[in-house]
Amino acid sequence: MSRPITPRRAAAACPLCGKPMLPAFTPFCSQGCRDRDLLAWLGDGYAIPGPPAGEDEITSDGLDRPLSPPL
Ligand SMILES: [Zn+2]
Repeated sequence: MSRPITPRRAAAACPLCGKPMLPAFTPFCSQGCRDRDLLAWLGDGYAIPGPPAGEDEITSDGLDRPLSPPL
């Protein structure tokens, strides 16, 4: 059982401006939109939420023992 990867190839549109996608700039419509997406990734447009500061890093008392003893 194998299905085609692109069920509807006619519906492909640029995710940035909505213009028809060009295969040369998949999945975008032009080099400009591709650059915009790249810049968004490098900037804060697509900020990937990192893990919040763990309590291990906040601890600065020097008390480095676990709350419960290991069994
Ligand atoms: Zn576009």
